[in-house]
Amino acid sequence: MEWIDSLRKLLKEDQVTMNPTELERHSRDESYHAPHLPDVVVFPENREEVSRILRFANDREIPVTPFGLGSSLEGHVIPYKGGISVDFQRMNKILEVRPQDMLVRVQPGVTRSQLNRELKKYGLFFSVDPGADATLGGMAATNASGTTAVRYGVMRDQVRDLEVVLSDGRIIRTGGRAAKSSSGYHLTGLFVGSEGTLGLFTELTLRVFGIPEAIMAARAVFPTVKQAVNAAVSIISSGIPVARLELVDALSMKYLNEHSETRYPAAPTLFLEFHGNEAGLKRDVVFAEELAQGEECQGFQFETDTKARAKLWEARHHLAYAFIHRSPGKRLMVTDVCVPMSELAGAVEHARHALNQEGMEGGILGHIGDGNYHVLMMIDPTDPRDVEKAEKINASIVEYALGRGGTCTGEHGVGVGKIRYLRREHKEAVDVMMSIKQALDPKGILNPGKKLPPR
Ligand SMILES: Cc1cc2nc3c(=O)[nH]c(=O)nc-3n(C[C@H](O)[C@H](O)[C@H](O)COP(=O)(O)OP(=O)(O)OC[C@H]3O[C@@H](n4cnc5c(N)ncnc54)[C@H](O)[C@@H]3O)c2cc1C
Repeated sequence: MEWIDSLRKLLKEDQVTMNPTELERHSRDESYHAPHLPDVVVFPENREEVSRILRFANDREIPVTPFGLGSSLEGHVIPYKGGISVDFQRMNKILEVRPQDMLVRVQPGVTRSQLNRELKKYGLFFSVDPGADATLGGMAATNASGTTAVRYGVMRDQVRDLEVVLSDGRIIRTGGRAAKSSSGYHLTGLFVGSEGTLGLFTELTLRVFGIPEAIMAARAVFPTVKQAVNAAVSIISSGIPVARLELVDALSMKYLNEHSETRYPAAPTLFLEFHGNEAGLKRDVVFAEELAQGEECQGFQFETDTKARAKLWEARHHLAYAFIHRSPGKRLMVTDVCVPMSELAGAVEHARHALNQEGMEGGILGHIGDGNYHVLMMIDPTDPRDVEKAEKINASIVEYALGRGGTCTGEHGVGVGKIRYLRREHKEAVDVMMSIKQALDPKGILNPGKKLPPR
């Protein structure tokens, strides 16, 4: 293609590739959504190059899809209209740690574990922890969260400032370093979660936290999922400042044990973690355990030493891979609703019922401390019956959540997989979202076909 030769002139030779392996790697995410190749992949090294790429693409109306690690789950990075896949892996520098401000400034290709390795030297940590070792640019673009959101918040709560390259190549900053601001519109909040459809992030300023003085992790096993959920709801509504509160059902515990070589009981389980000082933490744990016992939990199994605690959370983080690795040839379909806490027990019961009704195997797990849970199913994307069944289950779970004040996606985002539910969830507000998209990307080059329904 003629335009690719012109694009090559904007960058160094090794920054532009049409290598088939690279095109393939940028044609898919971790989900069941059908892949599609980009025409070309580029690896910018600084903001000026990103700006040049966008100006070029905008002039010629060439689609641009930003790419972090490609771990998203709703087809976000799949370039369905071809064009340029912009991979941020070479923009992976931690630019500045500001311990007194509890802030860090990073390039978008830095991964969450890379950042935490660096922050540990300062006694600090970055809280958001999705199951994949995702990039911070990708995490900001999906408004990711994870096991600690119940205490520290989601990605949107951590981003203080973004440097964004707009579709026409202009470079803007959306915030600052101040802890509060009432100035202007909240552009940072708008760009976080925009899934590469409004601009490309070239720098992020993020909040970080001090590593707590004391940490305790525990497992609590229950006779039924419903009792585990009820216990979680009681713990949250009693105001105990739990730092992590995760549900894993019996099937998922079985697969988790197989994958992580653990010997935890294969029964509905809550994984909990408490952060604080020794004295306060002991009180919190005793109270939480009492509440759990009210739901026939046999007591907390504490993981006291650092190694056992790390093992427990590693096993939890690798749970989706436990499903993926035992089903070669199949792809992951994962639901992602979030409901108000008062609706959680009913929602999880309904999800199990939906699986049973379709005769589909699936694990139920989630960050239930904030009402967000997932059903994990492994499907053969080439088998229309498999896809149909999984989509029916997903639709039923989303419908249930929307009918009770919930959302179709708690943390994974819309991509292409959730577009069909946007009108139902946001009604006329979708038109306002479309106006914003039109204002910021009038030629529709940024990640086209994602996040919003077609005009
Ligand atoms: C096993 C597993 C477990 C997971 N667990 C969780 C979880 O607990 N919580 C959770 O929230 N998610 C989870 N996810 C989903 C995924 O990890 C997150 O969505 C993550 O935020 C994606 O980051 P990434 O770097 O892989 O981004 P990508 O997948 O590469 O991109 C995601 C989106 O961000 C855009 N983007 C990427 N970089 C930029 C940039 N610099 N500027 C603008 N837009 C950009 C892309 O175009 C795309 O729309 C999980 C995924 C897997 C495979």
